[in-house]
Amino acid sequence: MPAERCILTVHAHPDDESSKGPSTIARYAAEGVRSILVCCTGGEEGEIHNPAVVLGEGETLKERRAAELAEATAIIGYDEVVMLGYRDSGMPESEANTHPEAFWNASLDEAVGRLVEVVRRTRPQILIGYPDEQHEYPHPDHLRAHDIVVAAYEAAGDPEQFPDAGDPHEVDKLYYTVWPAERMAAMHAAYGELGLESPYDERWLKRISKVEHSSTTIGVEGLVHIRDDALRCHATQIDPTSPFWFGLPEEVRHRLHPFEHFALARSRVGIVDGETDLFERIDLG
Ligand SMILES: [Zn+2]
Repeated sequence: MPAERCILTVHAHPDDESSKGPSTIARYAAEGVRSILVCCTGGEEGEIHNPAVVLGEGETLKERRAAELAEATAIIGYDEVVMLGYRDSGMPESEANTHPEAFWNASLDEAVGRLVEVVRRTRPQILIGYPDEQHEYPHPDHLRAHDIVVAAYEAAGDPEQFPDAGDPHEVDKLYYTVWPAERMAAMHAAYGELGLESPYDERWLKRISKVEHSSTTIGVEGLVHIRDDALRCHATQIDPTSPFWFGLPEEVRHRLHPFEHFALARSRVGIVDGETDLFERIDLG
């Protein structure tokens, strides 16, 4: 019997899964591919970015964000969400960086071991994480999420490493999510054409010039709304009036760039540019 197709994504905080590649997961979920989200931290250091949100009495941000994550991942179509159990490390050089339970301060080996355990149990062909080049948004948890996904890709198939974390499993491919320059440029131009003020300021346009190479383009026509709907679930983090996320009319946003992009970073089945399917060249047996 051929192996069941499975994708495992590794994100730093609740809401990252909704901004980076959600429509791709929705597309594969609709095709019957199993998908698992590993969320490294509880996002407890986030600020509330939406003036309309007030926490209930005794409610913590961590609890609220867990509820938001459950809603968002149901919309995206994830089969399972695994909380890796670390504390949000906060923004660069904030006091939260020094908290003993912060992801940033966790033993790298222990964190990789936790992820290897999930990889071996769920046995995905595809791992998705973050690129290492994060000059424009060097959030400590995002950097650390990158480190553990690369290490787990290497370690999961190696019986010598983490021998107590389950039967070894070789993942075929590791991808990074990327926001390609052409998407940002198209959005920026569309604001201008509609006479709207573009939220892509100097800083963003600079980011466009540094953006990572993408090897793989996934068509998500008809599924772009998944991203909007999932983002709106993260009401503490995403202001529904945000010009950045929702400034263009919905119809324009959905038509403009119905693609998501990934960079193939490690592969046991060759690296080829111009892929349109994450499972290309993978033999399911
Ligand atoms: Zn994040």
